Amino acid sequence: FAGLLKGKKGLILGVANNRSIAWGIAKACADAGAELALTYQIEALEKRVRPLAADIGATVVGRCDVSEPETMDAVFAEIEKLWGRLDFVVHCLAYSDKDQLDGRYVETTLENFQMSLNISCYSFTALAQRAERLMTDGGSLLTLTYYGAEKWMPHYNVMGVAKAALEASVRYLAADLGVKNIRVNAISAGPIKTMAASGIGDFRYILRWNEYNSPLRRVVTIEEVGETAVYLLSPMARGVSGEVLHVDAGYHVVGMMNPAAAPK
Ligand code: NAD
Repeated sequence: FAGLLKGKKGLILGVANNRSIAWGIAKACADAGAELALTYQIEALEKRVRPLAADIGATVVGRCDVSEPETMDAVFAEIEKLWGRLDFVVHCLAYSDKDQLDGRYVETTLENFQMSLNISCYSFTALAQRAERLMTDGGSLLTLTYYGAEKWMPHYNVMGVAKAALEASVRYLAADLGVKNIRVNAISAGPIKTMAASGIGDFRYILRWNEYNSPLRRVVTIEEVGETAVYLLSPMARGVSGEVLHVDAGYHVVGMMNPAAAPK
């Protein structure tokens, strides 16, 4: 896929370390020829993000915590100074209080509900508002979701509700921005061992369950998600918008555990 994103300029949010899905996407986009800008959420992550950015020739455009709108404004001001325009934004972040990613959804507090929906869902719309002005030649917005938006999943709780709202936002943003040839899509990734995932109760069990029961009998990698992102961000997907594309080894088609696949 070398050259698929040649000449494209993209902002990617959500790199925390080299296991982040955002890193898999950034690397694949760089391999496809894109020029990239990365952010980091907190000072403590800056020292991890800078060397990764250097590896792929990306520019670090500053700290961006989506719960602080002024940091989003500052990042877009930097982008405008750097490039004057923008072709794509990848939103690869989510957050909820870890204590509420275990046990029962019914116990979610209003405070955590509002914070989780703000950071994990509204922030995609907030980024779209800022990106629209810079996408003078069309563009592409991409976010990351999970099957827990569609079906109940153990411990996913308020994050499942946030992802359901995020997937609905993909459809509404696609309709609003399509007239400007800005496409809006999501990748629904299967479970991958990352920093964020380690906050989810029984995550190792969830990984193993997916390995036994997905049609491909394995879990997916950040490289696979990255290459699908390149497709969605590239002109190859110019006819695709409002889509939630599963990169989950086929797990979303499974209705029941596969007795033939269970460990003996
Ligand atoms: P990760 O921990 O590597 O990345 C999460 C990122 O979110 C981090 O970079 C963190 O700094 C950032 N973040 C959290 N709160 C933020 C805030 N207020 N402002 C700005 N950034 C903030 O984990 P990941 O698994 O790569 O997560 C990336 C995305 O992929 C998330 O949306 C997650 O829900 C989604 N996803 C993950 C999986 C999985 O199994 N790992 C599966 C499907 C979808």
